[in-house]
Amino acid sequence: MFPLLFRIATDREATVDSYAQMQGQVVVWNIVLHRQVQDWEMGQVLGRILTIDNLSRRGHILVNWCCMCCGAAESVDHLLICCPVASRIWMSIVALFGLDWVQPGTVRAVLQSWVGGRVGKRRRKAWNLAGHCLMWLMWLERNRRVFLEELRLAVWLERHLLLVVHSWLTLTVDSAVLSFVEFVEDLSS
Ligand SMILES: [Zn+2]
Repeated sequence: MFPLLFRIATDREATVDSYAQMQGQVVVWNIVLHRQVQDWEMGQVLGRILTIDNLSRRGHILVNWCCMCCGAAESVDHLLICCPVASRIWMSIVALFGLDWVQPGTVRAVLQSWVGGRVGKRRRKAWNLAGHCLMWLMWLERNRRVFLEELRLAVWLERHLLLVVHSWLTLTVDSAVLSFVEFVEDLSS
């Protein structure tokens, strides 16, 4: 799923969990690479996406505004979590699982709270994937708007998120394959 990381990892036979390390209460992926990651590859490496605030720190002079809501400066935490577009999708996913949630304000805090989501063993895998998938889709949509000047509505992103999570689940070896409709019904039951 991450071809760049696979290509430049020093040990291609390593398992994902062998790279996991705890930093405080947070799991981080400390992958050993045989070369540095280039700026244009950062979007493929978790945790260092080139939002406008990050580009500004690298000396690029840019107008800092969020192309998703057009109402705030763009940062990683804003784009992926606090932006009204992202926030709406986060809340809809949490509601789909039947949970209440006080939405944290940072990616780190969201990931920490997501781990503790009481969704039951049956829905755990979909829950875990949904959080990562949501952030990934927000980043793709942001780039679509910036570079292609094409816009997809939040409601489309909400539905697409479920499609992607379902497709990812069907790729895992030990998952019982449900149809998409069964999958959505199963999430909310
Ligand atoms: Zn925004």
